[in-house]
Amino acid sequence: MVSAAFFRRCLIALVAAACGALAAEAASEPAPRLPPSRPSLSAVTPRTLTVRKFGATEYVNLADVATELGLKFSWLERRRKAALVGPSSKAEIEADTRDITVNGLRVFLGDPALDSDGRLFVSRVDFERCLTPRLRPGYGVAPRPTPKVIVLDPGHGGRDTGTSANEKVYALDVARRAGKLLEAQGYRVVLTRDEDVFVELKERALVAKASKADLFVSIHFNALPNNNRTSGVEVYTFPPALQHATGWWGTLGKDDPHLEKSEEPVNRFDHWNALLAQQIHRRFVVDLKSFDRGQKLMHLGVLRGLSCPGMLVECGFLTSEVEVRKIATPGHRQKIAEAIAEGVQDYAGLLKG
Ligand SMILES: [Zn+2]
Repeated sequence: MVSAAFFRRCLIALVAAACGALAAEAASEPAPRLPPSRPSLSAVTPRTLTVRKFGATEYVNLADVATELGLKFSWLERRRKAALVGPSSKAEIEADTRDITVNGLRVFLGDPALDSDGRLFVSRVDFERCLTPRLRPGYGVAPRPTPKVIVLDPGHGGRDTGTSANEKVYALDVARRAGKLLEAQGYRVVLTRDEDVFVELKERALVAKASKADLFVSIHFNALPNNNRTSGVEVYTFPPALQHATGWWGTLGKDDPHLEKSEEPVNRFDHWNALLAQQIHRRFVVDLKSFDRGQKLMHLGVLRGLSCPGMLVECGFLTSEVEVRKIATPGHRQKIAEAIAEGVQDYAGLLKG
């Protein structure tokens, strides 16, 4: 495995150059104005789909989405809940919720589905960036090369212990194990840290850039204070522009200071982020039998600046009495590493076509 220390030395120069460029920009550019509506998002929404606005958000008819993606539309519950079914894909979507099932996995849309005039609608961005990659991988976007360089990012480190004293230790152990498995399959693997050191979030994305990574997986463990029962896997991707984080909806009505008004670097890969997250998510649920807490959206600093597809996996709860006992064993951490490595290979297999 390539040491991150080499990249860290390169990064000092890289960060200095980037900061210089930003300072120059700030001096010459007027303050940015917010766009009046959603920004143009790489225009994969075909012209055959009629876009209809509900509030400020653009929506498309789910029956039209099915036609566009070559799937069968059927009502599971008239005007409330519908299924889209293809030869190897299936989604179940219900009105007034973001919580849906795609290919047997729990997934959170960025905007709730809506019913109107006897039809079911999903937001245009969810059609493009959530449903399409999972139901028709590669549809409407430029193909990606088969991955060769994998960056694994063990969360936290050094003075940042994570959710408990053990998170940084377990995350590094799992990353090393997954790295060995992927190297044995012929991938080049880079760890953002291979020792107990603190690494800034932005620097982790820059390691991926410096190593010309084809994909990035951030490895973490979860915790809930005063709760020793909750367990399971959560996977995260960075929200597309003007979509809220999954956690924001619980505070509905409040301003969202984290809402991105324009695309961040990682949003260029929204389609592939979703697909990568799905493949790793599936391995946890199917192979490890992890309780499925869903694929969610969060404005994570470690993903924001990525120059390749990326996602973050919370491998289990260190506050769960049952789960932490398993995570504490090297045998279970090896299984977690296998789930990550197999998920990466599943993703690579889809890119080969
Ligand atoms: Zn963490």
